[in-house]
Amino acid sequence: MHDLTTNCVTANRRSLRLGIDLDGVVADFNRGWMARYNAQFDTRLEPELVTAWDDLHPHTHFSDTRAFWRWASGRGDAAGPHRTSIFRDLPPYPEALAALAALAAQKHRVVILSQKPDWAVHDTLAWLAEHRIPTREVHLTSRKGSVACDVYLDDANHHLEAIRQARPSAQICRFVRPWNRPTESTIDVHKWTDFVRFVDDESSIEAS
Ligand SMILES: [Mg+2]
Repeated sequence: MHDLTTNCVTANRRSLRLGIDLDGVVADFNRGWMARYNAQFDTRLEPELVTAWDDLHPHTHFSDTRAFWRWASGRGDAAGPHRTSIFRDLPPYPEALAALAALAAQKHRVVILSQKPDWAVHDTLAWLAEHRIPTREVHLTSRKGSVACDVYLDDANHHLEAIRQARPSAQICRFVRPWNRPTESTIDVHKWTDFVRFVDDESSIEAS
């Protein structure tokens, strides 16, 4: 049973609260940071290189994760000409924006759930605005399960597991990526059209 009472039922479909992660789900994090890195350091990194969680700095000249993230933050000498963090200009995944628009048009509520350090907050908000993400609710938090949703979509195993702990009755979807693995009692989603179809089915079931 869902513990939400604010959703409405229209035309035999219940509108659902959809907790949507950004990086690795809506925003192509690896393609974005690699484009910036390649341009700055004259390299040719490809997103397909990343096959494990936090498998980032080994593909660069940075000696450790800390140095990578300092560059990524846009601060310090290593950042070169950039005045923003990598989160400001990540490319959206193909189909992600159209899928979110379709879900919002179906009266589902898109709730953004993204873990971000303080230095990335304003770039993330600017990114959401630039791409006209159809949301009225943005939570930049590591405790995604603290935000009640009917369906969650994430690509990070640690978030999927924590959400499951916090929300035993929610539907939780894993966006299948090379850097994650199957998680107990989550639904695998391989592409955005899969997720839209799942939400459509779920809203129909709930309304029946
Ligand atoms: Mg993510």
